[in-house]
This record gives sequence, structure tokens and C-alpha cells, in this order.
Amino acid sequence: MAKQVLAAVRTGVHQTEFREYPMPQGSDDSALLKMEAAGICGTDVKFYAKPPIEEDVIMGHENIGTIAEAGRQFVERKGVKEGDLVFVEHYVPCFSCEWCHQGDYRLCAATDWRKNPDAIRYGYTSAERPPHLWGGFAQYMYLPWNAVVHKVPDGISPELASVVTPMANGIQWALFDCEVGYDSRVLIQGPGQQGLSQTVACKQAGASLIIVTGTSKDKARLEVALKLGADYAINVEEEDALERIREITNGEGVDVALDCTAGAGTVPVLLGIEALKRKGGTLLVQGEVAKFPDFPLAQITNKYITIKCARGHNFLSCELALKQLASDRFPLDLITTHRLGLKDTDLAIKSVGGTEAEGVIHVSLLPWQ
Ligand SMILES: [Zn+2]
Ligand SMILES: [Zn+2]
Repeated sequence: MAKQVLAAVRTGVHQTEFREYPMPQGSDDSALLKMEAAGICGTDVKFYAKPPIEEDVIMGHENIGTIAEAGRQFVERKGVKEGDLVFVEHYVPCFSCEWCHQGDYRLCAATDWRKNPDAIRYGYTSAERPPHLWGGFAQYMYLPWNAVVHKVPDGISPELASVVTPMANGIQWALFDCEVGYDSRVLIQGPGQQGLSQTVACKQAGASLIIVTGTSKDKARLEVALKLGADYAINVEEEDALERIREITNGEGVDVALDCTAGAGTVPVLLGIEALKRKGGTLLVQGEVAKFPDFPLAQITNKYITIKCARGHNFLSCELALKQLASDRFPLDLITTHRLGLKDTDLAIKSVGGTEAEGVIHVSLLPWQ
């Protein structure tokens, strides 16, 4: 294998530099991953514009690669071997805490970069920390004993596999957290890769009504939502969304409202609350706004609304997402719109942010191109 590994490193606000790092030494309980494709999502856009830590970081947290070299213990523990195509979750948990024992390692402190400066998470961890290769925008990634890997089913290309994270979030948030299932009526706000993946998950689960909202710049994405199984697509700039939802549901409202918007402030949450049924609906929120003046707590309690928080995915939702991708039941190539090489990392992130290219929904970064 090569002695040096090329990586795209975030060195500041909207700044990428290319650097080489030494290939890490193999060991009995670790592995090296040859990167094939890194999915780029809205979080990359956000943290490229506003880095959460000052140190240099190799971004890339939705990573698909081939096991290039694996120690004996790693192979035994993980059930994957050299040559296998795998999805590596961005969490690198401790596997000894309460949350890890419950299988909810997404909540483990060892991978909680917000609260724990020593936490490790792919795409978020300082590149100064040995052995440096903690992100997917590089030719190789280092996998310690506690990396979480999933074998990618045969027949799935790395580019298609790289939408596994939004798909897993779709299954986690809509199905596991908000209990969308047979005959559910769902409002999905925001037709980006996340909202479209929620559409697929809800459709597969048997939702009887799926309404997706977007703005004028989302016109093509709203079309894709309809092709993926949404029943109605509403442009909130052209129509009164609430009025339209009431009309569609005969005044009853929806069972579940999922917020998959970015940078829309408090508006989607307020619409979600209004659009939910008279009693007992479920609202999924993101942590987009730090402050929420005049939050309608009385209305939440009066409508007996349950609030769920979008917080990543668990092992099962990833496994189910990979099965979903393998099933070929939905035209997911409508989501995987763009592929770019490592040298275009800056362009790739900005494209997902909608500032550089038209018609982008999902971008796969291919580190060997
Ligand atoms: Zn992501
Ligand atoms: Zn833990």
C-alpha cells in the first residue's frame, strides 16, 4: 500500500487544503479502509461555513469503503474481512457505557463532539490527532477496534451506498421515533436528500398520505418527491401550505410532521404544530434554531403533541437502510445526482449547499478521482 495518504483538510471557513499523512501502522485490532465514496449532507455545508472546532479537520462522515487491511481481532469482532465493501458509521463509541450497552451508541459520550473535547467522530475530529485519518475526504480512513461497520449488500455501488445515512435517518426518525406505519398521514417539510429519504421510508412503511413541502428553488426536488411516492408536493411560496394541508386531510391534519428543512428558522416548526391533527400528533424537530421566542407551549400541550428530536441513527436503522437500497423498489438514482473527485471537495460541499450548481440533491465525493 501507499506510504502516504492524500486528504482534503478543512483549514478554516470555506477553506480546503490538500495534505499527505503517513499510512497508519496496521495492528491486530484495527483496520484500514480504502475510501470509495463519501456522501455529503447539509451538516457538511453548515460546518464548512461555520467550523465547530478550530483545528484542521478531514471532513466526510458518511463513508463507504473497502477494507484494505484488517487485523485478526478486528476481523473476528466485526465479521468483515479484507476486500469487503462496508459502510462506516461516523460514531466511534466506547462500547462500555449505559448507552452503548443499550445499543444507543449514538448517545455515547465517547463520540459526543459537542460535549466532550476528546470524543472521536468521523468527519468531526481534529486531523492533528494520531493517526490523523478521521474523515472520509481522504484516500484512506483508520478504523480502530470500536469503529462501527456494516457490510454493504452485494450489487450496491459505492455511490448508491453513500446515501445510506439519510436513508437510515429516514427509518430512525420517521419509523422508529415517530412510529410512522400503515395508514399514517405524514407531512415532510424540506425536499432535500433527507426529506426525500424520509419519503421513501414512509412510503415503504405503508403511510397512506405523504405531503412534501418546499420552496420555489426546490421545484425539481418536489417533482422527485412525487416520483418517490409522495402524494402531494406543496410550494410554500406559491400556496398557503396550512390551508392546502387542511383541504387535503378534510380538516383533520396529519399524524406526524417531520422537519427536514435547513435555515428556515422557526417557520417549519410552527407549521408542523398547526398541521398536526387535533390531538396526539407527533412532531419531529431539528436543532436548527438556538432560541425560539414565543414558543407555543400552550398549543403543544393543548393538542397533546409529542415532540421527538432528530438525533442520528442506530445500528438497526442502518442495516434496514442498506436493505432498502438493495431492494431496488424506488428510483433512488433520482437522489444520487452528482459525483465529484477529491480535488473538487470545496465545490462538492458548496454544491450541496445550493450555491454552486443546479439540480443537486446528493453528492458523492470519490476520493480516487
Ligand atoms: Zn450527514
Ligand atoms: Zn459508550
